[in-house]
Amino acid sequence: MIKEYFGGSDIAEQIYKIENACFTRPWEKDVIKNSDKTCFLVYYQDGEAVGYVSINIVLGEGFINNIAVLPDFRRRKIARKLMGKLIELYLPRCEYITLEVRKSNAAAIKLYKDYNFKQTGVRKNFYRDPQEDALIYTLYKAQKILAIESSCDETAAAVTQGREVLSNVVATQIDEHRLYGGVVPEIASRRHLEAISGVVEQALSDANCTVDDIDAVAVTNRPGLIGALLVGVNFAKGLALQRGLPLIPVHHLRGHIAANYITNQDLTPPFLCLMISGGNTVLCKVNDYDDFEILGATRDDAAGECFDKCARAMGLNYPGGVELDKIATVSDNKKYPLPTPSLSGNHLDFSFSGLKTAVINLIHNAQQKGEEVDIPVLAATLREKVTDILIEKTIAAATQTGLKKIVLAGGVSANSEIRRRFKELENQGFAVYLPKPEYCGDNAAMIGVAAFYEKARGDASLNAYATAPLND
Ligand code: ADP
Ligand code: MG
Repeated sequence: MIKEYFGGSDIAEQIYKIENACFTRPWEKDVIKNSDKTCFLVYYQDGEAVGYVSINIVLGEGFINNIAVLPDFRRRKIARKLMGKLIELYLPRCEYITLEVRKSNAAAIKLYKDYNFKQTGVRKNFYRDPQEDALIYTLYKAQKILAIESSCDETAAAVTQGREVLSNVVATQIDEHRLYGGVVPEIASRRHLEAISGVVEQALSDANCTVDDIDAVAVTNRPGLIGALLVGVNFAKGLALQRGLPLIPVHHLRGHIAANYITNQDLTPPFLCLMISGGNTVLCKVNDYDDFEILGATRDDAAGECFDKCARAMGLNYPGGVELDKIATVSDNKKYPLPTPSLSGNHLDFSFSGLKTAVINLIHNAQQKGEEVDIPVLAATLREKVTDILIEKTIAAATQTGLKKIVLAGGVSANSEIRRRFKELENQGFAVYLPKPEYCGDNAAMIGVAAFYEKARGDASLNAYATAPLND
């Protein structure tokens, strides 16, 4: 747990203890006590203060004084968490945050670099006991990121800055794939290739900027259709190399989760996330922006896939999930009873293929007997069933983890009934977050915002991967 203080006798003793254990020249207790202009973030482990970071903000410039963790508590990412919190709380109020670090302190320098600090100077012989140079590292306000997404059937580009979206352009190929009732990978790759330059240009011009204003390029490189991904990856790689810009590879599903940071500016991990898209259904614990723990996943079809395939059998257009949601009227469980999947093993896993088969069989049987199926009622019954399953598993995961924040992500979270029923959980004491409908499906804004929190950097060897676990 991290707490914020502005000097005071409450914490002088605790901070002095850490100082004394970490530095040859610790801060005096009185100085700490009287530093009412200094902010101290203190990390507590089982009630004991084991680490802290302090910062002074003067005229929009943030100066980090110290970051220290008791020797026995190192290697537990405590400094990392303190730095993350500090940036989250204070960077929005500063033009930049800066600090000095011993030239030989490789571990600290790595931490600052991971958080996007750049070396901006050297102070010769700054430290004593032993004498050593200080390197000056500075973190500027969020960079402008040009993000590119081409994992499936939307060619998308966006310009983002932190959690802000400056532009968001999506060129969909749905009309063409509709002819075939699903995405044809080869066609998708070709269309991406044709569209990508124009889409990127549009995103830059909508954001009132040119490539010169961009600080980094982000791209979805996993998972997705391999040929489709490669179009975006190669375009981003070429641009980044030519311009000497950092290249940030982004996991598509982490992008879907990050869509929530756009819509809900106050949302911070940890939270429970139900990720429901065309290709994935995953329940995960988001411990931190880059730390995900999978609690359960579908063993067969994803929720979106189940909707799409049932919708196709109902004679609806691709992508069926959207159409099915539009025509669903009133559910009648007696008219069309649908099975509830039962699973052995991990009770947080999902299975939707039985439900899909039941719906398709019901339609085929009726056709063989020459009977009419009331499609709007069947659609509503299926939608209700899927929603029941999603809610039940999510509540079980919330109980298991003790998390009260529930976040939906992915294309299927655009479903009207799913949104309504999850919002109702707020009456049971949960905080429920949904992405705005325009950020539910594939888009590049979510990739840009996910990139803002990514530490990994790509280079000329960056590749695309058809499959990749969320935490990879
Ligand atoms: P993926 O990233 O796996 O391709 P997306 O996140 O793009 O998937 O989401 C696409 C899926 O979302 C499709 O299966 C589509 O049918 C589904 N979908 C979109 N809108 C709705 C809706 N209103 N109700 C149900 N499903 C929907
Ligand atoms: Mg998607």
